Amino acid sequence: MNYYSTNKQAPLASLKEAVIKGLAGDKGLYMPEQINTFTPEEIEGMKEMSFHEIAYRVARAFFGEDVEPDILKKIVEDTLSFDTPVVHVHDNIYSLELFHGPTLAFKDVGGRFMARLLGYFIEKEGKEEVNVLVATSGDTGSAVANGFLGVPGINVYVLYPTGKVSPIQECQFTTLGQNITALEIDGTFDDCQALVKAAFMDADLNAHMNLTSANSINVARFLPQSFYYFYAYAQLAAQGKADELIFCVPSGNFGNITAGLFGYWMGLPVKRFIAANNRNDIFLEYLQTGQYNPRPSVATIANAMDVGDPSNFARILDLFSQKGGDTYGNIKELISGYRYTDEQIADTMRYVYTTYGYLLDPHGACGYQALTDSGLAPEETGVFLETAHPAKFKDTVDTILDTDITIPEKLRAFMQGTKQSFPLSKEFGEFKTYLLSR
Ligand SMILES: *Cc1c(COP(=O)(O)O)cnc(C)c1O
Repeated sequence: MNYYSTNKQAPLASLKEAVIKGLAGDKGLYMPEQINTFTPEEIEGMKEMSFHEIAYRVARAFFGEDVEPDILKKIVEDTLSFDTPVVHVHDNIYSLELFHGPTLAFKDVGGRFMARLLGYFIEKEGKEEVNVLVATSGDTGSAVANGFLGVPGINVYVLYPTGKVSPIQECQFTTLGQNITALEIDGTFDDCQALVKAAFMDADLNAHMNLTSANSINVARFLPQSFYYFYAYAQLAAQGKADELIFCVPSGNFGNITAGLFGYWMGLPVKRFIAANNRNDIFLEYLQTGQYNPRPSVATIANAMDVGDPSNFARILDLFSQKGGDTYGNIKELISGYRYTDEQIADTMRYVYTTYGYLLDPHGACGYQALTDSGLAPEETGVFLETAHPAKFKDTVDTILDTDITIPEKLRAFMQGTKQSFPLSKEFGEFKTYLLSR
């Protein structure tokens, strides 16, 4: 299958090109030329299937033309070495727990899938090494680094702002060794991102080494996120609870919810979607006014959603405009939005913990509250995506709930490793010299 750019000014790309390039030459985001659909019978049949079987069928719809069946199956199985269960919270509200992977956040799914797909393309071509550059404010770096750990032919450089990443997050990408290098930048997350962007534009560096990006714009990172929407449907359908399904997605760059929208157009029976935001509510403002006005992000306790210019907004617009008609009207009809301040997020966490005994992380709390505020009808089933394990935000969660939550074994193992990072200033010249020496 070919991929086009949302800006329509770049040539079509093969899957391999789209995965290796990440962003199209015209700075647009790649979109698959076709969205293959499932029949209602095929969807219905999923309630009898395992997560691996469902995910493989969805993967085949996207990547089946480009990757041999047995290899694709293996990539799916290796990616999903953990479950994404739907857990009942109360009444008709369910949590889709996406935090059972190695770094305890939903980004593990895309990070691991992309690493394996890229590894496959490199091995097949007998290509020289590929270098993945990723800027992180915390969660992305750990998911990408762990996804790529030990994949032959790939080196990963994680750039992170010194002192601005929590110790729990930092240890998840600084203690790995092997093909993962952590670069500790004396600057902000924006400085890290600027360094990565400048590297992609630099002719000397590109002549010296193959560079690629692993941010959520990459089709191999974002499309696999649709797997667990189908699986959530299957788990609820098996209980007869999926007739009027609503998904509520805590959103930052809007990659996760966009993957759900792809599922919807592949035939997944979803009644509506909700995008939950923290104070960075550019999308909500769009829903209210029809105007998209990106602005600098503000810091919140749900920091993985602190995004002022969601990159996948371009994909949402493109998806809906493909369908014809009134794009803005159709978006508003299928997706609603809510926004929460830090105080509201904390209140929700306390309320749900004391009333129902369910521990929410600050991101999932936005999802839970938006689902509740949207006014679920008794016959509807509401599912919010719990995007991270509360222990990833232990300090915040313990302060709000007055708890001392247990850190899962997986996370503890990272914390026992030895930190290795290479300090750099935010000057591009220094970063370039460092890369040229590799
Ligand atoms: C990345 C992230 C989000 C936001 O996901 P998008 O795909 O960027 O919308 C939400 N919660 C957590 C915990 C995350 O790490």
